Formats: sequence, structure tokens, C-alpha cells
Amino acid sequence: MLHLRRTWTAPKLGGLQRVCLGRVIEHRCPQCGRGALFERWAKLRERCDHCGLVYRREPGAELGAMYLSATVSQLFAAAVFVALCLFTDWGTWLGLGVGTPVVVAFCYAFLPLSMALWTAVEYLTDVANAEWWARPR
Ligand SMILES: [Zn+2]
Repeated sequence: MLHLRRTWTAPKLGGLQRVCLGRVIEHRCPQCGRGALFERWAKLRERCDHCGLVYRREPGAELGAMYLSATVSQLFAAAVFVALCLFTDWGTWLGLGVGTPVVVAFCYAFLPLSMALWTAVEYLTDVANAEWWARPR
């Protein structure tokens, strides 16, 4: 008999995933935790200056970070829009005048985090695929 209903449970974060996410949130290399992730604001280094892990291995490698940033920013913009509609009696222009800078500031502030998180996702994928350059430390 075919069972079509399955319960989905969120995968639990293992120790390596937790360590890597913690490192990139602190803007450190996901592999060694020592090298810096960024040269400056939202400018990812080419590689780790401590262990040599290449952060940007191919053209378009940051596409995932762009999609992540766009998705989260759009959700944030929707939340701001709903909050302004529900909790204020502001008109359209006042709402846009206040809400737009808030959303733009959020997008600007979130960009490095999305790049860091995507770097961790790519690194963890490489570890899971047993790529030779991905050696957790
Ligand atoms: Zn490193």
C-alpha cells in the first residue's frame, strides 16, 4: 500500500552546521573560523587569509545570496507595509515617506548577512559532497 501522507520534520542542525553558521554570522571563515570573510562592507574576500578556503569559486556564486537577500527584504517590506496599514492612520505619501527609508536601510544592513549565510550554505554543501577543498577545522 502506498503511503502518500508523510510528516515533515525540520532537519536538526548538527554541530558542524551550528559552528559554521556561528562563524559566518561573526564574519569569519566557515572552515577555520579565523580568517575574515569580508574586505569591507558587503565585499566578500576572494579567499580566507588563514586557511586558504576560496569563498568565491565561480562566477555567479553569489546569486544565492542575492536571492536570499531579495526574499528576506521583500518579506520585511511586506511586514512594514502591513504594520503601517494596521497600526497607523497615515496616508499613502506619509506611509511611503517613512516606510521606504526603513526598508532601504534594512536591505542595506541585511546584505552582508545574506552573503555570509550563503557562503556557509555553499561550504556545508561542499563538505556534504566530500569536496577535497572542504576540510572542517
Ligand atoms: Zn579559513
